[in-house]
Amino acid sequence: MEIYKNFINGKWGGTDASMRNINPSDTNDVLGLAVVSDAAQIDAAVNAAREAFTTWSTSPVQLRSRILDITGNEILARREELGQLLAREEGKTVREAIGEVTRAGEIFKFMAGEALRIPGEVLDSTRLGMTVEITREAVGVIGMITPWNFPLAIPAWKTAPALAFGNCVVLKPAELVPASAVALADILHRAGLPDGVFNLVLGKGSIVGQALIEHPGIDAISFTGSQGVGHNIARIAAERMIRCQLEMGGKNPLVVLDDADIDIAVECALDGSFYATGQRCTASSRLIVGAAIHDQFVERLTGRLKALKVGHAFAADTNIGPVVDARQLESNLNYVNIGREQGAELVYGGEHLDCPTPGFYMSPGLFIATDNTMRINQEEVFGPVASVMKATDFDEALALANATRFGLSSGIVTRSLKYASAFKRYSQAGMVMVNAPTAGVDPHVPFGGRKASSYGPREQGRYALEFYTSVKTSYIQP
Ligand code: NAP
Ligand code: MG
Repeated sequence: MEIYKNFINGKWGGTDASMRNINPSDTNDVLGLAVVSDAAQIDAAVNAAREAFTTWSTSPVQLRSRILDITGNEILARREELGQLLAREEGKTVREAIGEVTRAGEIFKFMAGEALRIPGEVLDSTRLGMTVEITREAVGVIGMITPWNFPLAIPAWKTAPALAFGNCVVLKPAELVPASAVALADILHRAGLPDGVFNLVLGKGSIVGQALIEHPGIDAISFTGSQGVGHNIARIAAERMIRCQLEMGGKNPLVVLDDADIDIAVECALDGSFYATGQRCTASSRLIVGAAIHDQFVERLTGRLKALKVGHAFAADTNIGPVVDARQLESNLNYVNIGREQGAELVYGGEHLDCPTPGFYMSPGLFIATDNTMRINQEEVFGPVASVMKATDFDEALALANATRFGLSSGIVTRSLKYASAFKRYSQAGMVMVNAPTAGVDPHVPFGGRKASSYGPREQGRYALEFYTSVKTSYIQP
């Protein structure tokens, strides 16, 4: 059986304590045992990263670029195999998992280029003969904490820019998905990354995650996960006066106006709400639909849902894989009950399913006759459950879309340039999609939200520079 270990200062190791990594499509399938670390391993990892920082942060950008490029190439070359591993560990379909792996590879390739393009400025000083240089330097040791829903892509989109700009990393992945993080550490190591630059510590968030954010040796924290944990991190980072970047939940609206192309509207809802088992922070969980198109939209969407196959992530005909674990499944089913109790009408699914293999299966759930004050429209479910709300006109739809404490992504399906433009301008979200699903984003542009969804500088694309570099202003009198 596979043993997933920590990777600290270029060496694999761990503790005696271990936990099982279970396949959510088939709980009899145990991928391996992952070490369960404590604060001592965090300490060793942070110290190794501090030790490596001086050399790495001043290393030639060509070296950094080459290592990131080799990493990206290997991930892309092994996309099928890594996709299988990811699907087995997390439960998304193999097709979805290969998509995620591809994205992770492309992010490393993009950041390999960015390492060679670290920008600066030279200006004349206001003082005679003097020049001013504005340069960017690495921040230091970055503590990273990542969720289970994108086991490879999220570690990749934090690690690639961190390394490109000369930082060292200590990564604490979600305990449900150690295998993908171990694969990443192995690839980075064999790509030639010096010892101590990237360190991986496996274990429980409440223990090693907490030890990481409290460690005096880290200079910044990049976190993706739930709002509660994010809030705690922001508080600790503020006390310590170190920078932090938090990507948290969403309650993303998809507006379907009466003039929408019904095929596009249904496909956007299907993809955004239910693919990847609804376990995406950008999932469209609120479908805000024009009164005139409402009945047709619900009928067509329900028809499409009936045709979807829920099943083992490895089965070729599966459209929706299992929920990640028993706890998340129970929480999803509980939200279905809450929706019913608050008066929403469940028109399809939302039920626990038995499949040939024992796993955490549920049918995609669709509610209608919901209003925006219901808990299913205000709290993140993080599963394959969406609710429809009726809107009489564009203004009401926009107001409903914005009536949430979250603000990650939003979408509108319409043929009207006027309404599409107005929505793009007035939607209180970090990412706005026109005639496209709320989930599914490009790897080379900024990712992030507003309000309770995000805090701190954006991730990804060239904007990642803001978080992973520190600005220096130098005055030079020759
Ligand atoms: P989570 O429970 O907040 O866990 C996220 C990470 O934080 C995990 O590595 C977890 O470790 C760790 N953690 C837990 N308690 C901690 C503590 N006290 N101190 C430090 N770290 C701690 O979230 P999740 O259930 O894995 O993921 C689902 C959530 O992530 C959803 O709310 C979703 O919207 C959000 N998400 C957001 C984005 C985005 O970019 N906006 C992307 C993906 C997911 P353990 O696994 O060991 O508990
Ligand atoms: Mg697992």
